[in-house]
Amino acid sequence: MSQQEEKNYSVAIDGPSGAGKSTIARSVAKELNFVYVDTGAIYRTVGCQARRKGVDPTDAVAVAALLPGLEITMAYGEDDLQRMYLNGGDVTDEIRLPEISMYASHVSAIPAVRAFLLEMQRDMARKHSVIMDGRDIGTVVLPDADVKIFLTASPEDRARRRYEELIGRGTPKDYDELLREIEERDYNDSHRAAAPLRPAEDAILLDTSGNTFQQSRQQILDIIRGRLGL
Ligand code: C5P
Repeated sequence: MSQQEEKNYSVAIDGPSGAGKSTIARSVAKELNFVYVDTGAIYRTVGCQARRKGVDPTDAVAVAALLPGLEITMAYGEDDLQRMYLNGGDVTDEIRLPEISMYASHVSAIPAVRAFLLEMQRDMARKHSVIMDGRDIGTVVLPDADVKIFLTASPEDRARRRYEELIGRGTPKDYDELLREIEERDYNDSHRAAAPLRPAEDAILLDTSGNTFQQSRQQILDIIRGRLGL
């Protein structure tokens, strides 16, 4: 088979924030030589623009008006890390600011934003074997994905992981505040009309509460290898 005819595989990993999706997906993608696509980073980039422009992220009309002037691109550096560019400027670090999380959660509830970003995500899956993480990958973006996994963990477990991650980044935050934010984002993500967070009917459900990273990583690798016969 020539390079062009090789089948591209797609693995969808959905679930609430802090379930460990991105760390596990990145590591599994590296192991399988797939491209890891962090779709949350794309929504964060839209959130970043709203914040820069002083636009209320819950104002659907004002946010939609930003879209025509928005050019979002992603690229992979030598370290395989996904870098995000907003109108040519590198926003990879800026989108990780804690306040951008809530901007991203609000702008992602706006149907015009979701429609604007849909093709960009599908295009990645057409061109590469991907592990794509998000909220609606198995339900909306890649309904025909070869493997669908819905990864979750208790809110307390997720808040604790985020707490430790932020300490590691040198930007610590109060645990109770993180837990409140996680619960608020869960609520927003699962109650919105546009592409709410829910497992696809054919998704494999995996609860990582109490697991170590290695245990969750191995479980996911086993599922993917089993399904794809790799
Ligand atoms: O995954 P992450 O926490 O970086 O995502 C930021 C926000 O983007 C989430 O709270 C969610 O509202 C939104 N999102 C989404 N659909 C995706 C990925 C992220 O709505 N596929």
